[in-house]
Amino acid sequence: MIVHGHLIRFEVPKTKLADINRNKVLEAIDTALELGGVGISAPQIGVNQRWSLVFPEGDRCRLPHLLINPEIREYGGDAIDSFESCLSLDTRHVVRRFEHVKLFYTGYNGVQVEKWFDGFTSVIIQHEVDHLNGVLIDRKACQ
Ligand SMILES: [Zn+2]
Repeated sequence: MIVHGHLIRFEVPKTKLADINRNKVLEAIDTALELGGVGISAPQIGVNQRWSLVFPEGDRCRLPHLLINPEIREYGGDAIDSFESCLSLDTRHVVRRFEHVKLFYTGYNGVQVEKWFDGFTSVIIQHEVDHLNGVLIDRKACQ
């Protein structure tokens, strides 16, 4: 388990489905559950790949979305100030997010999906996509 590793400040490359290690996905889920996170990204467990896990509505009793190479294609609704924490930081920050995002990604079994996400799920997705770009909430916080 590495949540403070050196990889977290760098953008990670696009990842082929075949290169994703199932055990690393399970390790990421375990890490998020153990630390009480609602989402986690591969670099946080020391994996230099472009995928994240997001629990729907932050509900850790549900199967997380696996988002491989996620791309936010559109933002919708109002901009909101979100008070966030991160498994990789000890500090909390207010970050500007949008209510809705249209996301294109590859999910479990390589299925390609384009769909809108709303509410808390949308906020978590924006946080995790930032991770994959090497951006943490301390660098993005509202001044
Ligand atoms: Zn985070």
